Amino acid sequence: MKFIQTRGCDENRPQSVSFSEAILSPIASFGGLYVPEKLPELGMDFLNKHLNSSYKELASDMLSRFDIDIEQSVVDEALSLYDNFDDSKNPVPVVKLKDNLFVSELYHGPTRAFKDMALQPFGHILSCVAQQRDENYLILVATSGDTGPAALETFKNRKNIQVVCIYPANGTSDVQRLQMVSEDASNLKVIGIDGNFDDAQSALKNLLSSKSFNKTLKEKNILLSAANSVNFGRIIFQIIYHIHNYLELVRQGSTKMGDNIYIDVPSGNFGNVLGAYYAMKMGLPVEKLIIASNENNILTSLIQTGIYDIGDKELIMTTSPAMDILKSSNVERVLYDLFGAKRTKELMHDLDTKKVYRLTSDELVKLQEIFVADYCSDEEGRGYIKSSFKDGYLMDPHTATCFKAYKSCATKNIDTVIYSTAEWTKFSPVIADALTGEENAQDIKALESISKKAKIEIPLMIKNLFHKTIIHKDIVKKDTIESEILNFL
Ligand SMILES: *Cc1c(COP(=O)(O)O)cnc(C)c1O
Repeated sequence: MKFIQTRGCDENRPQSVSFSEAILSPIASFGGLYVPEKLPELGMDFLNKHLNSSYKELASDMLSRFDIDIEQSVVDEALSLYDNFDDSKNPVPVVKLKDNLFVSELYHGPTRAFKDMALQPFGHILSCVAQQRDENYLILVATSGDTGPAALETFKNRKNIQVVCIYPANGTSDVQRLQMVSEDASNLKVIGIDGNFDDAQSALKNLLSSKSFNKTLKEKNILLSAANSVNFGRIIFQIIYHIHNYLELVRQGSTKMGDNIYIDVPSGNFGNVLGAYYAMKMGLPVEKLIIASNENNILTSLIQTGIYDIGDKELIMTTSPAMDILKSSNVERVLYDLFGAKRTKELMHDLDTKKVYRLTSDELVKLQEIFVADYCSDEEGRGYIKSSFKDGYLMDPHTATCFKAYKSCATKNIDTVIYSTAEWTKFSPVIADALTGEENAQDIKALESISKKAKIEIPLMIKNLFHKTIIHKDIVKKDTIESEILNFL
């Protein structure tokens, strides 16, 4: 399968590239993204065939339909990383909450958040491709807390890859920070920055345009790649679990094969729900994709009004920080799929220059045929955490945003899958506040009080974090990041 570009081709790049090329250098012409030329059609045959397959069998067959230029043995090794999830036979449990309502738990991987679903296999594949081409890659990650740990975990000690991860020193939870600063491998560098996530991102941007930095990369023969969800190598692994979830509802005797369901996703950079969009396009029976946001409700506005306007918006810090985002990168891939490259280029140009784009009313109708959306305040989220706990289900603040959207958007009496993107251990202070009213507790105290109240053990891998040796102690000012990284390289 070939990959083409969302904003068309600038004639300086090839018209189309292979999967391996698209994942090694994920930025396309005019700053666009790579998308598959044509999605494989799976249809009901595929669903029926895999009704009793394991997650890995399903994944392997789905990937083979994309006909990617990666050796089968490498794909198999990548998929075997799901064996390290809590239950190797069922890496993505689907839990029934009540009639018609299910939660798909995407956080049972090594760093306890859904980023592992894609980054675990992706890390192995990227490293293998780099080795085969005898090339060395640097991955720069600016993280608000979940991507960093998952990227470090997947790339640690992998050949031909180095990772520099920049995080806001006071902007992550203790658990997230400890997961990063305790990673011990010579190909990893973690730097805390004196500032917020925006500062981390802008430090990274400055670096990319710095002459001395680029000169050093050239001298050392190091190429740049990216591990965020602009990389299709992540998206491809995020299609699989939506199909798995559907089959799971059929297996559990709730959904009849062929019937539509709602898929309700807590969204930030739109990678998770893009995977669902592709699954739907490939034949998964879906009524609507429900997009849940927090108070950074740019996606809700887009779906409800057709206007994407960041001109008058400021980023709000919420209790679901992985969804605190204004520029949601993967929306572009949907625009391309619905309206084509010429129109996508126009819309993204408007966003870059005027900080706003507007869909026509016909375009909005097309978008609304697929998506519905709502957003949830922190206050409402706390309420859902509390009420759901009373009903016997403990969840994190990102997952909680889905409940508001479920109420307002799931209007038909059919099955809904809500996506749980983080374990309770990653955002324990917010949950402790919701459950016990104890405000601003440190993670370790919050973990203990939730553990006591919910009568569940704190997982060992989280408990141990608090006793691990801190490897990466640097907290630096924005303007010294470059020299830190040059030293490391
Ligand atoms: C990354 C993340 C999200 C947002 O997912 P997108 O694919 O960026 O939309 C939601 N919740 C958690 C916990 C995350 O880590």
